[in-house]
Formats: sequence, C-alpha cells, structure tokens
Amino acid sequence: MYLKLASFNPNLPSAFPGKKCAVVYFGECNFRCPYCFIPKHYLEGKGCKSVNINQVLALIFQTKPEAVEFTGGEPTMQKRPLIAMASFLKSQGILVKVHTNGTNPGVVGDLLTKKIVDYLCIDIKAPFSDEALWNKVTGINARDYINKVNESTDIAKDKADFFEVVYPVIPGLNDKAEYIRKVCNELIFCHSFVVRAFENKYGTVDPAFSKKKPPSFDTLKKLARTARDTLLNVESVRIQQGHKITEI
Ligand code: SF4
Repeated sequence: MYLKLASFNPNLPSAFPGKKCAVVYFGECNFRCPYCFIPKHYLEGKGCKSVNINQVLALIFQTKPEAVEFTGGEPTMQKRPLIAMASFLKSQGILVKVHTNGTNPGVVGDLLTKKIVDYLCIDIKAPFSDEALWNKVTGINARDYINKVNESTDIAKDKADFFEVVYPVIPGLNDKAEYIRKVCNELIFCHSFVVRAFENKYGTVDPAFSKKKPPSFDTLKKLARTARDTLLNVESVRIQQGHKITEI
C-alpha cells in the first residue's frame, strides 16, 4: 500500500506535549487556504513521493517515538494508508495523533470507532454559521464542506478520548474576538482549544499573505482569553506561535 508523502519530521516537540513525536505530512488537500504555508504543488498532490507504507513505518520506528502525528495536507484524503499505519502503531503501543481539516467525517468516525487515535485535532477556521468567512479562509466555495466539518466535530464529541480544536488566527480575515466566541460556543464540548498564529516565513498559497504581519502576542492573548472565558470547563487553552506554546 502506497502513501503520497509530502514530508517527514523525526521529532517535533510541540506536536504532542510531553512526548517524543514524529510527524508524517500527507500530500494533497481539498482546501486552498490562502494563508497556508504548504507549497501549492503538495496540496495538489504533485511533487509528493509515492512511498510504500512499510518504508514510512520503518522511518518512524528509526526515530523511536512515543507518539506519531499524521497531518498534511489532509491525511483523511488517503484513508487506507492512514488507517493501516494508525492501527499498526497503536498495536505497537505508540500514541497516535491525527490533525485534520474535518472534511471527511466518515474517516474521522472510522478512526475513532476503531480506537486507533488517542488525540484528534480539527482545524476550525471560522464559526459554522458564517459561510462567507469559511469561503475566504479556505480559498474555495466551502458550502458543501461546512456541514461535514460540523459532523466530524459531533462524532468527536461522542467518541474521542481527546478532542482539540485549533483556530488559526489570520490577520484581517478571522482575527476578531466575536468569531472566536462563536466558535467556542459551537464547540463548548472540546477538551482543548488552541489559538494558533498564522506564519508566513516559508511563503503562502496566496503570495499576498506573505506580506502580512503575523498577529502579535498581545492579540493572540486577547483572543485566547476570550476562548478561556467561554470554555469554562475545558482542560486547556493554549497559544501556539511556531513551536512556542503558552498555556492560558
Ligand atoms: S491550511 Fe490545512 S486545510 Fe488549509 S490548505 Fe493548508 S493543509 Fe489544507
């Protein structure tokens, strides 16, 4: 079985707090977020290496990880290799994290029903009620996807041991406190909420975003406080700037 692989990181400390975590970046994505730092050809699946999953697993085991994150691109677009690798790693006692844009609720449901994911992370880029903002933040007509992402969060609510929402803060697009408040009210059942700063040092899908200034720590703190005030029972609210994590 083959995987379209974009990249591999043998150890990314911020990926799974407290664990040595390798990261597998899947090629392809169904969104074209203008702020995304992943090169467009990887999002289109071009330029990705087609690699046998046994080779990917061998690479993973060389790093002696405690945890592995599958991210992208969009990992749920390659269901068979994702499920096969997650199953095998779990059988070997390794923790599994999946970071998805939530557009494939069927795959999210399979991963959780099979109990092969310890840590599920879904990017939520705007309130579900704001289709116009979703279109801007994803770079496509997102109408058909919003309900699917919402469905994935409902499945996570019922089945995930640990469900984290990541809100990417994009200057001039979704960086108002009212948007964060709405998202938190829609997802009040999550276990963790991350306010993640937009980064553009590696370039962006829309070159105009390469010139934007990343949000300041004060802006992120204000947004994280809004999340903290709304998510009264949630275990953790964090700010992420690159690899730097700040608990609020
Ligand atoms: S930010 Fe995530 S969802 Fe958006 S295009 Fe990039 S990989 Fe896909």
